[in-house]
Amino acid sequence: MPMPPIHKRLATVVGISLVLLFASGFIPEEPTYHPMTLTTPSPRPESSKTNDTSGAQGRSLLPNDAAYEVEKEVLASQAAYVVHEHAVVTNETVRAGDSMALIFARRNFPARALYALTQTAHGETLAGIFPGAKLTFETKNDQLTVLTYQPGPLERVVFSREQDGSFSSEEIFTKPEKVLTYKHGIINSSLFSTSQAIGLPDNLTMQLAQIFQWDVDFVLDIRPGDEFFALVEEQHLDGEFIGFGDILSARFVNQGRTFTAVRYTTEDGVSGYFNATGRSMRKAFLRAPVEFSRISSSFNLRRKHPLYKTVRPHRGIDYAAPPGTPILAAGDGRVEIASRTKPNGNYVVIKHGEQFVTKYLHLSKFARGIKSGKRVNQGQIIGYVGSTGYATGPHLHYEFLVNGVHQNPRTVSLPQAKPVARKEISRFREKTFENLVLLDHFNEQVALASTSHRS
Ligand SMILES: [Zn+2]
Repeated sequence: MPMPPIHKRLATVVGISLVLLFASGFIPEEPTYHPMTLTTPSPRPESSKTNDTSGAQGRSLLPNDAAYEVEKEVLASQAAYVVHEHAVVTNETVRAGDSMALIFARRNFPARALYALTQTAHGETLAGIFPGAKLTFETKNDQLTVLTYQPGPLERVVFSREQDGSFSSEEIFTKPEKVLTYKHGIINSSLFSTSQAIGLPDNLTMQLAQIFQWDVDFVLDIRPGDEFFALVEEQHLDGEFIGFGDILSARFVNQGRTFTAVRYTTEDGVSGYFNATGRSMRKAFLRAPVEFSRISSSFNLRRKHPLYKTVRPHRGIDYAAPPGTPILAAGDGRVEIASRTKPNGNYVVIKHGEQFVTKYLHLSKFARGIKSGKRVNQGQIIGYVGSTGYATGPHLHYEFLVNGVHQNPRTVSLPQAKPVARKEISRFREKTFENLVLLDHFNEQVALASTSHRS
């Protein structure tokens, strides 16, 4: 329980006045901590003996001045204390299943107070309170005067009661302090186990894997000894770590090949990762549009059908995945077909410019809003894995066509996403220079440390 400000203030006042008294030679035999005693110190005979050099005048002047100042302070604090005499502040953490109505009922606050809160500019926030968020109630004479809702360490919504019984509201954001940190990991089995071992949280590991996903297949390409370096932003509040921000720059070494990426936000406000020359780390298409557990059937134009024993080409790849796994648009484009046929089940065809078409078959269902004519962005969920149509188990059958010809989605060379625009390349260099240098420097330090360990 933190000390109330009034007591802190008094303690400070007492402390200062004691220092002043000591400095001036007034050393009370039994210092008492009651402010009134200190503000009106009466010189004792013993005190004057300890300070022979100062005359009677000088002796009384300084402490009296100090005492006067102290008295003013104490009076002011006391006045402030009186004003807040009946204010009671209590905190609680929102529990699972809580709603503001339930909390108000528990605390015996009238429903009309909650109604008044919902009528404020930020009233809607109170409809979406979630477990773990903090609530602070300030009441005066059992009446709610201030409610603070704190969904996270960086955000507060404060509702204050006005004279007429209505509430006003304001949202206050705290900017965290940004601190740079470095992470280095050497993979022995998987990226995730290594990340966990060095304290990189899963969402940052995902971010790292997404940055390099076009260059490294994190399911099939990873080898023991692969390593990564990352310059990461940490967020601090009042000197305390509260969470990670973005990866600012990163390097991944996969089977001896090195990939380096730096984060850059374009003049238009779009953030992405680029290599040092401004080429996008992204390709125009995802290699696999679903997180799959295995490839259940490969691309094979001369496949003998297992049942019919005839040549039945398999013009796509079957990715086995649990039913309901999200399927993503492989690239930016427009939905040409979102429909159902007997062999395909629910299926989607997306056209990407003039050259490219991708097809997704056997979906359990379409994502909301997916219909022909709809624009989609790379990575957007278009549907979910199922086994509709001619399918023996849940999987995604995925096809990739270039100029109308089926290509192997695993090996087709994918076009690059747009690089940094030529007109802002100098801005790009200026903004990313430091984060690339810091990454290089860290990389060198790690390399030096490991060679000196070996020798
Ligand atoms: Zn198939």
